[in-house]
Amino acid sequence: MPAPVASSDSTPLQVLRHVFGYEAFRGRQEDIVDHVVAGGDALVLMPTGGGKSLCYQVPALVRPGTAIVVSPLIALMHDQVQALRQLGVKAAMLNSSLAPGEARKVERALAMGELDLLYVAPERLLTDGFLTLLDGARLSLFAIDEAHCVSQWGHDFRPEYRQLTVLHERFPGVPRMALTATADGPTRREIVDRLALGEGRIFLSSFDRPNIRYRITPKSNPRAQLKAFLDAHDSEAGIIYCMSRAKVDATAEMLATEGRTALPYHAGLDADTRARHQDRFLKEEGVVMVATIAFGMGIDKPDVRFVVHLDLPKSIEAYYQETGRAGRDGLPSEALLLYGVEDVAKLIQFVEASDAPEARKRVERGKLDALLGLCETAQCRRQVLLKYFEEDLDEPCGNCDTCLDPPRTFDGTEAARKLLSCVYRTGERFGAGHVIDVLLGEANEKVLKFGHDKLSTFGIGKDFSRDEWRAMVRQMVAMGHLWVDTEGHGSLGLTEKCRPVLRGEQKVELKAEQRARPARSGGNGR
Ligand code: ADP
Ligand code: ZN
Repeated sequence: MPAPVASSDSTPLQVLRHVFGYEAFRGRQEDIVDHVVAGGDALVLMPTGGGKSLCYQVPALVRPGTAIVVSPLIALMHDQVQALRQLGVKAAMLNSSLAPGEARKVERALAMGELDLLYVAPERLLTDGFLTLLDGARLSLFAIDEAHCVSQWGHDFRPEYRQLTVLHERFPGVPRMALTATADGPTRREIVDRLALGEGRIFLSSFDRPNIRYRITPKSNPRAQLKAFLDAHDSEAGIIYCMSRAKVDATAEMLATEGRTALPYHAGLDADTRARHQDRFLKEEGVVMVATIAFGMGIDKPDVRFVVHLDLPKSIEAYYQETGRAGRDGLPSEALLLYGVEDVAKLIQFVEASDAPEARKRVERGKLDALLGLCETAQCRRQVLLKYFEEDLDEPCGNCDTCLDPPRTFDGTEAARKLLSCVYRTGERFGAGHVIDVLLGEANEKVLKFGHDKLSTFGIGKDFSRDEWRAMVRQMVAMGHLWVDTEGHGSLGLTEKCRPVLRGEQKVELKAEQRARPARSGGNGR
């Protein structure tokens, strides 16, 4: 028996209890719902599993009229509409999967005011015909799900999302809310700007997912590393991400021969196979999905116990989002990332070879540096991860690899001071490559042109290799002693925080370089 649907004079709490069957709101849900019910605009940043859907579903039932939910994924819409209907809510969707006759029926229901919620794909929403239909309908709100798709810097840019600007122009009286589980500072500002949410409120929940244990390890023998990891996750469901389709196929096959239920998923498989594999992943126990990033958005499986990245993700945002698919049920889960020097080079090449404008490349380089900083850090991973989302975690988390087995470090104070003074002496106007050239005493054209061979720091860093210096630069950036001007020319600059180090008042522990190639045994050191 479906529960009775709320009448429009129900309070949010009554709707939550009587329609959805939950006792109480969680976290910031109540504030968000109250704000939107009162007609306010909002940007809602909440981690995956935080309960974003109720933030618009409850106001949709409290406010009179139909709520229009913009969602980029047909599968997700379908699941949500099904679930709502089971609760007795009048929900429908409009997207390319509907036959023309069905679509017309839904449009008629909208015009007649018979719907509480209507899910639409952005490209459908933006058609003239549909906008005209909306002109004549009574609307309770617009909810723009996965709002980070608006960001051209983001990892999931969808051009149609940019045109959602029409909403506030054409329907100024209808509250708009944008929701996302992933948005760093620049992306957030872009969403606010694009969707004209400047007058609205931003609701920021903590992005911490305390039940996920983060592990990030240099890739030395990926096959053995994966096997050891999976042995500790016997018969559990998980996702393994690879960069290429070929690697997805090969990995799934290898795991299958080892007796795991492992299924491939990528855009090169036909739609039937993909749907079948996704279905098995959702319904059977202990299925491992080996996939490209084509898999995962909108997948609501609470008991994913692990996420492995066999290749470097594109950015910290992507990493956060992909690992966030583990442990939605709040139980202990694990994320493993294997990173190799070749992956890093590949991503750098990717950025450099693209014909994107220089400004965009700079942003992408900055994002890549931040990601490498996370990989290199000797600090708590969670602290670094959350800091990227402008959130401070006061204490190390105790649930990541660096907290659990602190990496081997050395007293890098001397090296750090050399690096900092070299950045200072070259005028804080150069990128890592040039600064390292000076440290290594490379008298190349650029060094000579700027007279940097005359500096006191020229050639004082010969006891480390270029790669070691690079690793140290990334760590110093990750620790906040140096910053990279990603909006300018990628030059390194000093921060307030580095002053005590320069003055010799503070020690710096650096991670001993773990080389991705196997260590030589025996006593012939460098
Ligand atoms: P998100 O979209 O933020 O990833 P969902 O909206 O899918 O999260 O919610 C995640 C899960 O939490 C769902 O199973 C949902 O039913 C549950 N949930 C959300 N809010 C509440 C609440 N107030 N009480 C109990 N369960 C909730
Ligand atoms: Zn930690």
